[in-house]
Amino acid sequence: MPYQIDNRPLDLRERMYFPEIIRGIGALTGHFLRNLFFSRDPNPDILARPRGFGRSDNVTVQYPEEKAPYPPGYRGLHRLVPREDGKARCVACYMCAAACPAQCIYIEAGEVEGDPVEKAPVVFVIDELRCVVCGLCVEACPKDAIRMDTGEHAPPSYERAAQIWDKARLLRGPSVNYQHDPWLRREAPSIPPAQRAAMKASARPFPSVGTDEYAQTPGFSVRVLAAEAKERDDRARAG
Ligand code: SF4
Ligand code: SF4
Repeated sequence: MPYQIDNRPLDLRERMYFPEIIRGIGALTGHFLRNLFFSRDPNPDILARPRGFGRSDNVTVQYPEEKAPYPPGYRGLHRLVPREDGKARCVACYMCAAACPAQCIYIEAGEVEGDPVEKAPVVFVIDELRCVVCGLCVEACPKDAIRMDTGEHAPPSYERAAQIWDKARLLRGPSVNYQHDPWLRREAPSIPPAQRAAMKASARPFPSVGTDEYAQTPGFSVRVLAAEAKERDDRARAG
């Protein structure tokens, strides 16, 4: 229903202003006292914050002195996931670049020295300013080679060029080894045998189906989110 505007002429009390000013101050004071003593922001993050002397129950987080932890599904800055030998897991297949709706990933593929089969990115660049943080690159990657699990957002900079992250900046974080990694299974000549044996020993199984329990972003699970949404709906229907 459209909002109706009350255009009636002001009565005497309203034309005198003072009674209305006092009424306005009363409403303001009521809200102030209610917020100060009797209510909290219903935001769950605010409700979970500790209370007590010197802590405000109502204000938002006093950033940057105070920082709220990001939720587990937060998509932070990208990183190229390293293998245990420090090289990137990326095989320069271009899937992430093809999936990227912002076209902000640039890759140049090259040969791996001493290996006639493997490819690797010679250049891997992400323009973090053009990125729309959709996570499609992470989902598209068949090698779990790119993740957004850093928990960081892009640091401030004075130049756009500083937001163009190259391979040297992107390659970081904990390494990942899977038992089915082709460089372990086919005994890639670019990895010394002793190192390959150590990598094999620490490798963990990769899921045979792409379930979100193994989602590349730790803590992120579409199933858990869907179950929570269903529970909320059920509660709303019941109550
Ligand atoms: S998060 Fe989305 S927009 Fe950003 S690089 Fe990945 S696919 Fe592109
Ligand atoms: S990060 Fe993954 S999807 Fe992108 S080129 Fe490398 S292996 Fe392919």
